[in-house]
Amino acid sequence: MIPLVDLKAQYNAIKKEIDSAIKRVIENASFIGGEEVIKFEEEFARAIDAPFCVSVSSGTTALEIALKALGIGKGQEVITTPLTFIAISEAIVNAGAKPVFVDVDETTYNIDPKKIEQAITPQTRAILPVHLYGNPANLAVIDIIAKKHNLLVLEDCAQAHGAARGGRFVPHATGIFSFFPGKTLGAYGDAGAIVTRDEALAKRMAAMRDHGRTTKYEHHIAGTNARMDAIQAAILRAKLPFLASWVASRRKIASRYTEMLAGFPLLLPSAEADAEHSFHLYVIRASNRSQLMEHLKEAGISTGIHYPIPLHLQPVYAHLGYKRGDFPITEKVSDEIVSLPIYPELTFEQVDFICEKIRELFSRSK
Ligand SMILES: *Cc1c(COP(=O)(O)O)cnc(C)c1O
Repeated sequence: MIPLVDLKAQYNAIKKEIDSAIKRVIENASFIGGEEVIKFEEEFARAIDAPFCVSVSSGTTALEIALKALGIGKGQEVITTPLTFIAISEAIVNAGAKPVFVDVDETTYNIDPKKIEQAITPQTRAILPVHLYGNPANLAVIDIIAKKHNLLVLEDCAQAHGAARGGRFVPHATGIFSFFPGKTLGAYGDAGAIVTRDEALAKRMAAMRDHGRTTKYEHHIAGTNARMDAIQAAILRAKLPFLASWVASRRKIASRYTEMLAGFPLLLPSAEADAEHSFHLYVIRASNRSQLMEHLKEAGISTGIHYPIPLHLQPVYAHLGYKRGDFPITEKVSDEIVSLPIYPELTFEQVDFICEKIRELFSRSK
């Protein structure tokens, strides 16, 4: 059996570090906030060359708090991609604003910068690119558009821990991370963070996730309880020193797949010239997707689809008035994508076995 991600293999490799981190929190009996959380924020910010990190309870709450702290709300529109997880549009809606979708680029699967300007209206307040699968979106072009139209940019880095664009880690300005267990850097429960270069924004978000507190009993801004648990912070601190090597392993596995799958009637992942893909997911496109997934399943290989239903076609957004045909590239891509197993502990032998099974299918159907 080859799973899509193998969290047990990861735990077995770093059991000692994890167990002692959990024990430390329980012994210190400091479960909310405190040293573990503060240290994780400092260490994570340092690891990705960002000045400020505000830890929160999930990637979804990170999006919501960031949007609200940026002043985005009622009557405003946020431009984003329809080929992503629902958390993005969910947070935009929960902040009181309206998601406006723009089709993706045919090769990167990220928001197509060439199509952003035609979606801008007087209500548009921000652009929310997602670095999908760990492949950084074209931030340079998005930034030029944002400046020209006086818009904010919030990057979704939930799948892009360790990814870089133009030689710099993402986010380039302000972005959110998810530490959902299956993510490249994952906690043992829900956790997330917002990373920014804007100190005032960081302070606002830090207060917002903790009841809008300025001191224990003084509340100056509207907040909520969206704090990261100390136990999750301790687990993330134990894992963080491995992040760079895990990303390096993912890149090696991705290269191996790309080498072994060359020449098949498949579309393989590609990144733009100055983009350093971190391969949270290795996603290929196949016109015979269901046949391919079934064939791999019979061989004990798990696959996934990220994501089968584009956001503009989700029943919950029927009131936004989108219909099939509005974003032809997204729709075509979401009908063909398959995520193959990828995680740092996956061996080249396993990758070769998966590719051998894929070859089997294509030689049989010839
Ligand atoms: C996982 C994910 C999120 C949400 O993160 P949670 O921690 O699960 O709330 C947001 N955006 C993207 C692109 C994701 O993959």
